[in-house]
Amino acid sequence: MSRLTNAATAAARPAPPRLLAVGKRHPADAIAALAAAGQRAFGENYVQEAADKIGALAGLGLEWHLIGHLQSNKAKQAAELFDWVQTVDRTKLVDALAAHRPAARGALNVLVQVNIDDESSKHGCVPSEVPALVAAIRAAPSLRLRGLMAIPAPHAEPERRRDAFARMRRLFDTVAGQDPAIDTLSMGMSDDLELAIAEGATMVRVGSALFGARPAS
Ligand SMILES: *Cc1c(COP(=O)(O)O)cnc(C)c1O
Repeated sequence: MSRLTNAATAAARPAPPRLLAVGKRHPADAIAALAAAGQRAFGENYVQEAADKIGALAGLGLEWHLIGHLQSNKAKQAAELFDWVQTVDRTKLVDALAAHRPAARGALNVLVQVNIDDESSKHGCVPSEVPALVAAIRAAPSLRLRGLMAIPAPHAEPERRRDAFARMRRLFDTVAGQDPAIDTLSMGMSDDLELAIAEGATMVRVGSALFGARPAS
């Protein structure tokens, strides 16, 4: 995506961020087409939908990220299926993922999802809960903490979105200072990836700008 390289250049960043292609509600064929063009990392919101696609596309060597809210009763299936879970927001989930990650799959990469705009209706932990979650994940040998993820409120004013991305960056710098393996700040989507990259996103999650509009569910 040239938008990524352009935004990285504008922000004077040495390299563009990683691109996570978000294929929710698009069929496995659409993902296979993007994979054929060289895209490797794919994000899915729902465990069952992902299970079907991961099964259909096994053998392509793709990397699968869960980016939707994860219920504890689906943690076992998620720990078996995914390479990354970006939506870890409570210690109960840390414990369930750690207990169910199959040893043969290696450590599960995880991000702590932060509710940076403190909207009571949304998922993610509040910033003050981040240190306890970070400690719990780092104490679990079957999990590998890679960083933080956020879905800021879709404010119409770009300055307000940018402010949320900047607050995430400060939180990330604090956490990343503890461990060189913590290398991922996942933020920015089709509408605001330039703002996120300007504030230091290392991974952007892009759906509609890659796949077109999502089919109605
Ligand atoms: C759907 C979704 C995206 C991609 O959104 P687009 O606006 O289509 O780019 C990114 N992150 C999460 C968590 C999503 O649910």
